Amino acid sequence: MLNIDAIRSRFPILRSTVHGKPLIYLDNAATTQKPVEVLEASRQYYETVNSNIHRGAHYLSQLATEAHEEARKTVAEFLHAPDADSVLFTSGCTMSINMAAEILGLSGRIRQGDEIVISTDSHHANIVPWQMLCQRTGAVLRVVPLTEGLRFDMEAYARMLSPRTRIVSVPYISNALGLVLPVREIARMAHEQHADTLVLIDGAQSTGHMEVDVVELGCDFYAFSGHKVYAPTGIGVLWGREDLLRELPPWLGGGEMIREVTFEKTTYNDLPFKYEAGTPNIEGAIALAAALRFVRSVGMDGIESHEAGLTRRLLEGLRSMDGMRVLGGDEDRGSLVSVVVPGVHHYDLGTLLDQMGIAVRTGHHCGQPLMQALGITGTTRFSFAMYNSVQEVEKTLGAVERALNMLR
Ligand code: PLP
Repeated sequence: MLNIDAIRSRFPILRSTVHGKPLIYLDNAATTQKPVEVLEASRQYYETVNSNIHRGAHYLSQLATEAHEEARKTVAEFLHAPDADSVLFTSGCTMSINMAAEILGLSGRIRQGDEIVISTDSHHANIVPWQMLCQRTGAVLRVVPLTEGLRFDMEAYARMLSPRTRIVSVPYISNALGLVLPVREIARMAHEQHADTLVLIDGAQSTGHMEVDVVELGCDFYAFSGHKVYAPTGIGVLWGREDLLRELPPWLGGGEMIREVTFEKTTYNDLPFKYEAGTPNIEGAIALAAALRFVRSVGMDGIESHEAGLTRRLLEGLRSMDGMRVLGGDEDRGSLVSVVVPGVHHYDLGTLLDQMGIAVRTGHHCGQPLMQALGITGTTRFSFAMYNSVQEVEKTLGAVERALNMLR
């Protein structure tokens, strides 16, 4: 059991009021709030260490370099990655997926007629970079449909895999539906089809909510954003299989990523620097490490079971409401619930909840193709983090009932 009061006390923003009501923050799939441990790590960095890394002989630069590289090790440990060099810092999950698409494109591995497989419940960040790669290379984007229960259709996927499949890229947990995809099985089947087929897992909604072991998952790339796991915005991670990253070419050129530059020719640096051109978000990486340590100090098992309890109660309460349609079943669900109420616009529901101090997200959740497939324009989405309480769920259920009475 988590001590929710103790956890909440670490997040200053949770003491806020909104429209005169205590804030109930249920928009954690969009971004999480930050504990003092993270705020303090950022402040301390600027107060005591701030300096550019890797280049300076001076004391502060060495401190900053050590802290930045320690942060990389913390991320590697968090993901159970065998090697810290295969952890690449990016600006966020979107950039991580774009980077994977770019380096695979530049490598010449993707040719005309090759196939890239994604899922219908992908975020735009897992659609558009692959679409752009297809446009450049003549590859074809294949989209695995959903079953009637809104699950990733494994049978359709099995039929879709072919000797031309080069990349399979899927979310671990879909951000619009909250459903957990069978990523291990997806990866296993892709690799069985062809040893060179690569699998990327978009971990934006899983990281910080469940244990992630990139080796055990059997993926080749894993991407996530720091700000969804209690760290600041502007920092993210692309983990890649080390042998693969060594072989693939760099994408962005500039300082840090080089070994030697002449006007005729440039040789590139070793991993991970080959993929980190320019001055990185040093403070962001350090704060991300503080966030991951914070998550570990609370404990992943406790977080997962606490959030699952909140989700179960929310599902039960929502399902008992007249006309409420919860998207997807209860099995294999993350801590996120999306609903549609026929005759009620999601935006109106979200606005009334906001008036009652409750922050939820409404709209298409960067999943326009999914909304089209479901024949809807958007949903109202409730998403939990470790600091949400049972009392907040009960208040939210009462507030949803009140809002619907006003809207219908
Ligand atoms: N993938 C998924 C599943 C997401 O939920 C998000 C953000 O909501 C992203 C990718 C993109 O993350 P970011 O905007 O932090 O780059």
